[in-house]
Amino acid sequence: MDDCLFCKIVRGEIPSRKVYEDELIYAFHDINPLRPLHLLVIPKHHITSLATIAETDTPSLGRILAVADQLASENGSPDGFRVIINSGRIGQQEVQHLHAHIVGGPEPVGPMLKRI
Ligand code: AMP
Ligand code: ZN
Repeated sequence: MDDCLFCKIVRGEIPSRKVYEDELIYAFHDINPLRPLHLLVIPKHHITSLATIAETDTPSLGRILAVADQLASENGSPDGFRVIINSGRIGQQEVQHLHAHIVGGPEPVGPMLKRI
């Protein structure tokens, strides 16, 4: 995806504060952190959202969850964290390259959702 923001980050065409990379996934600090720890973990290959998953995407999706605890622990949230994946219009996904937010810090992150 030539003009996808997160594909450009994976290719190094846009700078990011990388915390982890392997053959499948790439993790970096969110540019606008909402908690003391706020990372984004993405598949290196372009997947638009959880609505467009192919069977071949499952290794990278599994890896994203498998490294979450390690990344949180190494980056200031050793006692738990929250993973959020916004999907589509209802999920209010803004960047159309699948990404998991890992949020945490020294204090609990707060209620899961505000009641509306
Ligand atoms: P979402 O609303 O789930 O699509 O989240 C998109 C996230 O991407 C937001 O938390 C933004 O702050 C973050 N973001 C947007 N551009 C960048 C960037 N260049 N580097 C790091 N994070 C970004
Ligand atoms: Zn992309």
